[in-house]
Amino acid sequence: MAILELRGVRKTYPGEPPVESVRGVDLTVGPGDLLAISGASGSGKSTLLNLMATLDRPTAGSVLIDGRPVEGLTDRRLAGVRAHRVGVVFQQFLLLESLDAVDNVATGLLYRGVPAGQRRALAEAALRRVGLGHRIRHRVTKLSGGERQRVAIARAVVGRPAIVFADEPTGNLDSATSRDIMTLLAELNDDGTAMVIITHEAAVADACRRRVVMRDGRLVDHGRRP
Ligand code: ADP
Ligand code: MG
Repeated sequence: MAILELRGVRKTYPGEPPVESVRGVDLTVGPGDLLAISGASGSGKSTLLNLMATLDRPTAGSVLIDGRPVEGLTDRRLAGVRAHRVGVVFQQFLLLESLDAVDNVATGLLYRGVPAGQRRALAEAALRRVGLGHRIRHRVTKLSGGERQRVAIARAVVGRPAIVFADEPTGNLDSATSRDIMTLLAELNDDGTAMVIITHEAAVADACRRRVVMRDGRLVDHGRRP
């Protein structure tokens, strides 16, 4: 069964005139998928990511997680679905600068009902999984860009979500570090986590099995690689 399904999803922001950021998107993401979404700046990628990750609600259409439409859920039930099934790596990392790496990662478990005593152990395991076992106690302000991105990825995967969304995960990194981060995301995908990666870098999109392009709020499917 699909983890994520979008049916005729639209998002219009009110204004004069209204901004139609997403104009009718149909998309299915299954277990283990590795999908790249590319497209010009302003084409609606981040808006779509927020809808897919259930951080925002569509103006029209339906978003289904595990076959269940999320629009019927209360905010509380939706938060539960998000906490258990969805991980997000935001464009600007969004780490808490006053905290060290492990406490940043542990925040990824706050809404998952994990007892405080277990959060740290799980966060340390996630940091080891992304290759940061030697940075557990480092303040994030002392980390390089690539290391911060790994912390953000660890935070997204610490709750073992079924699907992870990453918005331009290599956008602020040099090309060698970008390759390392893509290798890490592909490894996490090999472990069975579906990945949806927003990127405008051809090398990143080429590393994904399936590619779609967003143009003026719509998706053009470029299919699966042979
Ligand atoms: P991308 O990530 O591809 O650069 P976005 O999804 O950020 O594109 O934006 C798509 C369009 O929606 C743009 O025209 C942008 O200005 C508009 N937009 C995005 N967020 C909002 C918002 N909160 N309010 C109004 N317009 C928005
Ligand atoms: Mg964007």
